[in-house]
Amino acid sequence: MDLRYSPEAERFRKEIRRWLDESVPPAWRVPGFWLERDGTTESLDLRRRWERDRFDNGFAGVDWPVELGGRGAGHETRAVHDEEMARARAPIGPYLGLTYLGTTLLGPTLLRYGTAEQKRRLPGILSGDTIWCQGFSEPESGSDLAGLRTTAVRDGDALVVTGQKIWTSMARYGDAMFALVRTGPPDSRHRGITFLLIDLTLPGVEVRPIRQLSGSCDLGHEFLDAVRVPIEGNVVGEIDGGWEVARYLLSVERQASPIGQYVEFLHELDDVIAAARRTAKDGRPAIEHPSIRARIARCRADLELLRVRAYDTMTRLGRGEDPGSEASVTKLLWSRTRLAIADLGADVLGVDGQRSSAPAGERAGHLRWRHLQVRGQRIAGGTAQIQRTLVARDLLGLPR
Ligand SMILES: Cc1cc2nc3c(=O)[nH]c(=O)nc-3n(C[C@H](O)[C@H](O)[C@H](O)COP(=O)(O)OP(=O)(O)OC[C@H]3O[C@@H](n4cnc5c(N)ncnc54)[C@H](O)[C@@H]3O)c2cc1C
Repeated sequence: MDLRYSPEAERFRKEIRRWLDESVPPAWRVPGFWLERDGTTESLDLRRRWERDRFDNGFAGVDWPVELGGRGAGHETRAVHDEEMARARAPIGPYLGLTYLGTTLLGPTLLRYGTAEQKRRLPGILSGDTIWCQGFSEPESGSDLAGLRTTAVRDGDALVVTGQKIWTSMARYGDAMFALVRTGPPDSRHRGITFLLIDLTLPGVEVRPIRQLSGSCDLGHEFLDAVRVPIEGNVVGEIDGGWEVARYLLSVERQASPIGQYVEFLHELDDVIAAARRTAKDGRPAIEHPSIRARIARCRADLELLRVRAYDTMTRLGRGEDPGSEASVTKLLWSRTRLAIADLGADVLGVDGQRSSAPAGERAGHLRWRHLQVRGQRIAGGTAQIQRTLVARDLLGLPR
């Protein structure tokens, strides 16, 4: 493990930091800024414009090929990019980043499996001209993805898609969805699945929002009723060969270094520490309570562990290795730590903090929101139980 970045990556850091200092207004860095605008057109417009500007300035898709709008940089520069974006509290990541799913998951997959025509869509993914969502999960199929039931039946030059997708992030903003559909017989499992690009404005598509515990409606439920999707240009890989494409996409997800999350969660812990300084508990500031101090220390230590794991991932990638099930350990660590920070925030605020009308609650609405919003992180991208099974099987060699 090498804990230093290359001089080239450090030069890039200076460059991106300069741009971020100019392009991310101080107001955006105030905790709660985006929460106050949750679900508004203003929020969408601000983020859309900012992402376009990022693309125009050459800071989108830093590890994508230059001819497709990227910088052709390596994984280390990508990590510096993630770190600096999080440091500046830029609107990125799975919750605020409109191009996040397209850029991190679909783009690399099209680079590997896409036809020449499909690759022409890549710059539009980076710039945010098309906002993509991921349609893998279904009401009866999440952890067991190979059991999916949304059917796609060939009719001339189109696949006619009928079924449901659910828990789709970014659904409320999405223009299009990369989805897995069943083209083989119902019991064909992973052998009868096709990876399909579906335009969400086609007739027969209905997107309904799902309200989460936090009140946010960023997730969606898609109802697909005989949607005609042209085969030309929309099937990625072979018909019935989508499992291979999906596996590649999931391996790309595994290869992301969690360094950006480390910085982001550090900010979240700082927000909790600030609240603990100003919130009284039993007649003295919460920060003076030994149990609160111990929990802060534990979260801080776990974050350092996450940082070391981020460097470990980068070192593996530098050697051309796939982190494999090591990524499950990282996912378990970051989801557990983020939840611990959010729980600590809620405990610091106490019962009063749960009331939106309470003075402390007014100032700390983002902590209350985060406490509810981050629950889903243990489920998204593979549940904690599934990750533990992978660790037990692949890393510990335990019997099944
Ligand atoms: C915030 C959020 C965002 C999401 N975004 C997307 C998205 O953009 N696109 C998308 O396609 N999906 C998305 N999902 C869906 C997510 O991928 C699934 O919810 C997840 O894979 C679990 O599937 P499930 O909900 O069907 O639960 P199930 O698979 O039904 O699991 C239910 C419970 O049983 C446990 N379980 C299941 N199988 C096993 C097993 N073999 N061994 C032990 N325990 C098991 C699970 O751990 C869980 O506790 C998102 C989910 C959340 C919460």
